[in-house]
Amino acid sequence: MENKPQVSQLDLRPTWDEYFLMLAKLAATRSSCLAFPVGAVIVKNKQVLATGYNGAPAGSPHCTTQGYCYPGLSSCDASTTLPSRAVHAEANAIAQAAKHGISTEGACIYVTLEPCLSCLKLVISAGIHEIYYETSFNSGEKALVRDSFIAEGLVTLKQIHLSETIAQKAASFLLNPTSIPGNKNF
Ligand SMILES: [Zn+2]
Ligand SMILES: [Zn+2]
Repeated sequence: MENKPQVSQLDLRPTWDEYFLMLAKLAATRSSCLAFPVGAVIVKNKQVLATGYNGAPAGSPHCTTQGYCYPGLSSCDASTTLPSRAVHAEANAIAQAAKHGISTEGACIYVTLEPCLSCLKLVISAGIHEIYYETSFNSGEKALVRDSFIAEGLVTLKQIHLSETIAQKAASFLLNPTSIPGNKNF
C-alpha cells in the first residue's frame, strides 16, 4: 500500500490577513479596560510597525486593576457623557509608533473591532488608509460619517475573519509547546 503523506497542520499557513489579525487578537489579550478587549497592529510592507490594545493612559491604573473604569461606572461604555477612559487600541498603536519615531505613512492597520470615529480620524491623519477589522462597530449617523470618509477616498475598510482551520492551528500552538524537534503531530 502506498504511504500517502498526511496533510499536517504545518501545511496550513495563515494568509497575511489572518496572520496580522491573529497578532491583533493576541494584542487584545493585554486589554485592561472593562468595556471589551480590542487589539490593533500597524503593518507596512508586511512588517509589523507597532501594536496596541485598549487600556488606561500609560502610568494610570488599569480599569481591570481598580475594578471600575470611572468611579461608580462598571465600564467605559456605561457613561453617556464621559469619553472612554481607556486609550483605544488604534490610538495606542499610533502613540507607540510616535514614541519610537516610526513613520506610519502608507501603512495599514489590523483591528479586532472596526475603529470608532475618533480612532478613524486619527488613523487617517496618521497616513493609514487601509483598515482591516473583524467585528463591525459603527451604525446610524456614525456609519454615515465613516462612509463619507470612504467616499472622499481617504480610507478603505474591509471586514476579515480567521478561517476555522487556522484558528484551530493557532489554538493548538498556544495550548502546547510549539517547537518540539521531531514532533509532526500539530
Ligand atoms: Zn475602562
Ligand atoms: Zn476608538
